[in-house]
Amino acid sequence: MPKKTATKEGKWVWVKCAFCKGTGKDPFKVLSPLSNCPACGEKGKALVQEAYKTCPDCGGTGLRRRTRLYCWTCHGKGVVPE
Ligand SMILES: [Zn+2]
Ligand SMILES: [Zn+2]
Repeated sequence: MPKKTATKEGKWVWVKCAFCKGTGKDPFKVLSPLSNCPACGEKGKALVQEAYKTCPDCGGTGLRRRTRLYCWTCHGKGVVPE
């Protein structure tokens, strides 16, 4: 068990967006080459709350299997809350 902290909620940390690999652009250019990443919306990163783990659905790629869409489980982050 983790040590008790001020709040029982984990802190929020930035992780690199797995879907666009941090570029902030749509890696598949579905709409246009200038499209923002549909998962993170051009930030290239996403906020997740600790503790988190690699998304079991996409294996951390942020990509939904056999599609060019972001993973619905982790929303393209590649990680999900524990
Ligand atoms: Zn992204
Ligand atoms: Zn996922």
